[in-house]
Amino acid sequence: MSSKFTHVSASQIKTYLDCPRKWYLQKIVGLPSPSSASTELGKDIHSIIEAYFRDGLDIPETDTGAIAKRGLEYLPSRDEDLSIELGIHEALPIKDSPVPIMGFIDLLHKGAGFVRIIDHKTTSSKKYTKTSKELGYDVQMNIYARSIFDNMQALEQVEVVHVYYGTKAPAWSSSVSYVLTRQENDDHFNEIVKTIDKMKIDAIKEENEVEKNLEACFKFGGCPYRSECLLKRKEIDTMTQTQSQDLASKLGLTAPKAPAQTAQVEAKIQAQIEKPLAIVPPYERRSLFIGCLPQKSTIAPVTFYEAFREEIQMICNQFQVFHLSQVDYGKGWNAFQSLLASQSWSKTTTAIYIDPMSDEFTRVGSLLIANASTVIRRV
Ligand code: SF4
Repeated sequence: MSSKFTHVSASQIKTYLDCPRKWYLQKIVGLPSPSSASTELGKDIHSIIEAYFRDGLDIPETDTGAIAKRGLEYLPSRDEDLSIELGIHEALPIKDSPVPIMGFIDLLHKGAGFVRIIDHKTTSSKKYTKTSKELGYDVQMNIYARSIFDNMQALEQVEVVHVYYGTKAPAWSSSVSYVLTRQENDDHFNEIVKTIDKMKIDAIKEENEVEKNLEACFKFGGCPYRSECLLKRKEIDTMTQTQSQDLASKLGLTAPKAPAQTAQVEAKIQAQIEKPLAIVPPYERRSLFIGCLPQKSTIAPVTFYEAFREEIQMICNQFQVFHLSQVDYGKGWNAFQSLLASQSWSKTTTAIYIDPMSDEFTRVGSLLIANASTVIRRV
């Protein structure tokens, strides 16, 4: 596995900081990361701006061109000293990273007594823009600044700039900048190196040894690896084929797919699961049904809302609203998540049904899955 970690980029580091397992699945296992309409729009705007500076082309009179044009007021004129899409690994290699760092500076602007690193960012809302202080700590900008400091020894500071292109009405654009000193960049880069060292260690681990961050599962439109990752429950992973079929047939369901096991591994797993099964009373074993209900069983799952009626009522009372969704965006659900995490599971039932297409699943699905002893999902 380690041979796959031959280089690192700012976006890899950001993914790793978000969730180490997500980075591992993407870069070491090599699962594809699907593109989105907003990613494609961002690429188009980058290409338009690049062609404007590099080839002297006009900005096209299209909807995408209109978004790109709005950023021009924050960009230098074309006759300044500019480098466009500068590959730092080729032109400005960073000297002391545990693995080579690759990246492209969108626009490098040099003038009398200053060096400015400009990065184009497309975003749907102003709430996603960084403050100047946040930009000073940004991983990507610190990597680019490091490449400048490593290759221009006399320079003591560099300005980093985000130019934001709003992609949704009403039309807007803005820019944020921060002047990074060499000393600040040294401090921030040391932290980045520590993260790369951890990535090196994780790159040679087995998948199940790499840490998961369940809080990241539903951020930014949701992790694309949820189905691979979250449903690898310890119980289902460790069940033998026969056990999972027995359970499914008792419940009148299709058996969850168990991984193929060698006889030796099966024996080991069997020994591990016998013990908890023997000491955990049945009423403490929690079953989560996602998108399916048992047809033949004494287990009678209640719906998510029935199961957590008391907890939800408590939060609604606290915020003086009738429904969690009426609390200011995110707050009610955050409060509910914390309560759920602290209680681990509803006290009133051992089996819960949740609709995979529901908002509730989006908000607390990962927490319920993490707390369940068994997860049964319609396949
Ligand atoms: S589903 Fe969640 S825990 Fe799993 S890789 Fe994605 S973000 Fe990480």
